[in-house]
Amino acid sequence: MTGNVAAIDRGTARRLRRLFGEAISFTREDRICYSFDATDLRFLPEAVAWPGDAAQVAGAVGIAAESGVPVVARGAGSGYTGGSLPLSGGLVLSFERMNRVLLVDAKRKVAVVEPGVVNDDLRARVEAVGLTYPPDPASLRVSTIGGNVAESAGGPRTVLHGTTRDYVAGLEMVTAEGDIARTGVLSGSRHGWDGGPLFVGSEGTLAVLTRVALRLTELAESFATLWAEFPSLGHAASAVAQLTATGLPLSVLEILDGDTYACAHEYVLGAAPADSAEGALLIELEGSAREVTEGVATVSDLVRSNGATGVREAVGEKEREEIWEIRRSISPAIARLGEVKINEDIAVPRSAIPAFVGEMRRISSEAGLPILAFGHAGDGNLHVNIMLKRAGAGELERARRAVSGLFAVAVEMGGALSGEHGIGITKAEHLATELSPVSLDLTARLKGALDGRGILNPGKILADRPNPWWDPPGGNEDGCDRC
Ligand SMILES: Cc1cc2nc3c(=O)[nH]c(=O)nc-3n(C[C@H](O)[C@H](O)[C@H](O)COP(=O)(O)OP(=O)(O)OC[C@H]3O[C@@H](n4cnc5c(N)ncnc54)[C@H](O)[C@@H]3O)c2cc1C
Repeated sequence: MTGNVAAIDRGTARRLRRLFGEAISFTREDRICYSFDATDLRFLPEAVAWPGDAAQVAGAVGIAAESGVPVVARGAGSGYTGGSLPLSGGLVLSFERMNRVLLVDAKRKVAVVEPGVVNDDLRARVEAVGLTYPPDPASLRVSTIGGNVAESAGGPRTVLHGTTRDYVAGLEMVTAEGDIARTGVLSGSRHGWDGGPLFVGSEGTLAVLTRVALRLTELAESFATLWAEFPSLGHAASAVAQLTATGLPLSVLEILDGDTYACAHEYVLGAAPADSAEGALLIELEGSAREVTEGVATVSDLVRSNGATGVREAVGEKEREEIWEIRRSISPAIARLGEVKINEDIAVPRSAIPAFVGEMRRISSEAGLPILAFGHAGDGNLHVNIMLKRAGAGELERARRAVSGLFAVAVEMGGALSGEHGIGITKAEHLATELSPVSLDLTARLKGALDGRGILNPGKILADRPNPWWDPPGGNEDGCDRC
């Protein structure tokens, strides 16, 4: 729902300037810098502010609430579903200045951070005291904890360690009325209703996060990294289904199709892999030294029995880092293969991965469009990438049908539209494929109860317009809807 939101009028602009001083901008140059995210879609905000603390966020949301101006919280803008795009204009709150790690308590295994802290910076801080923060989206070097919590980000380690949701111990947030609320350990209370989980994954539509308490864990005693190459993606997918049934301490189980692997290999190492493989798995085990040693032997046997042609264990940190660099570079590497990459992070039960891969191939050939696949196979999360030239409406229409087909197949198999990227604006039109009318109604009523005026990130999750991909902004010479 975009609701009846208003533009920033002169009086509201004056009040915002008084609140933020130098830390707000209405210039076109600054607004353009906050008009896009990883979807490559663009919507121009009317103003961008860089709050310094929760009181300033509360003041801004309070002013916006009185005038009906949309407020869009923004982390690093690395989202793949348009969550941080100011669809209806309004005020973007960008959290670059609220990037402090406020506490790392090694004894209680908890950290308290501001939302603008970059995921990898937090990891470095806690690893210095012998602990770790497991959620590791591939965007960890840029994405922020605020964005991670708002999307309940996952990552390669989700298979063993869960998603961001499993690590949130408390939140401080600003409500749609501009009040500051605290939940969990940050509320100071052990009693009563802890509404924290409701806000994790709510994509900035229910509250603006200003502080997050996170659980930390021990670093594993030992780990091993393996790379296995297969004659087909189907062979690799079958191995995944069997590996996850073994009960081994698999902390990473990433799948890549042959084209994705070749492309990322070349991107990182400057040359295609020596042996051509049509499917590959990146596997890590972690646990006690004994568990890991025994696990490596079992994994090697199992992948070979599933047709793996090459299996190697990374020796030393350099080789391990090289393998990881290939994995983390997939998105920028394959982006070069088409002018437009439609990336859908579809979730299916792990046992259904081989069947889903078959259906994906069918849909790709019916649409006449290449689909590259990779992802966190260990938790059934596959990133399917439809590669387009930004050609005519015909290609877009075929892609649109392919996406609908992929979602329908995934839901039919017991899966979901998104494993980790959220719904945002790009998947909203499909939400009814996954949620029943009753669940959709409940979602709308929750939004209405917590943000009656609809000012917090309007137009996300519950959409009243189709994915802008299919209806490219006519707008102006920039191709921007609101520039
Ligand atoms: C190369 C690449 C790899 C990626 N790999 C992964 C992956 O492995 N796993 C994964 O889960 N995702 C992945 N992503 C997607 C993306 O990085 C995540 O969704 C991430 O959590 C977004 O964080 P961000 O700081 O960029 O948030 P943004 O994109 O800025 O915002 C995302 C959402 O969070 C909301 N938000 C941000 N800050 C706040 C706040 N303070 N309060 C309330 N709401 C807020 C925004 O309104 C928006 O709805 C990847 C993206 C890229 C480009």
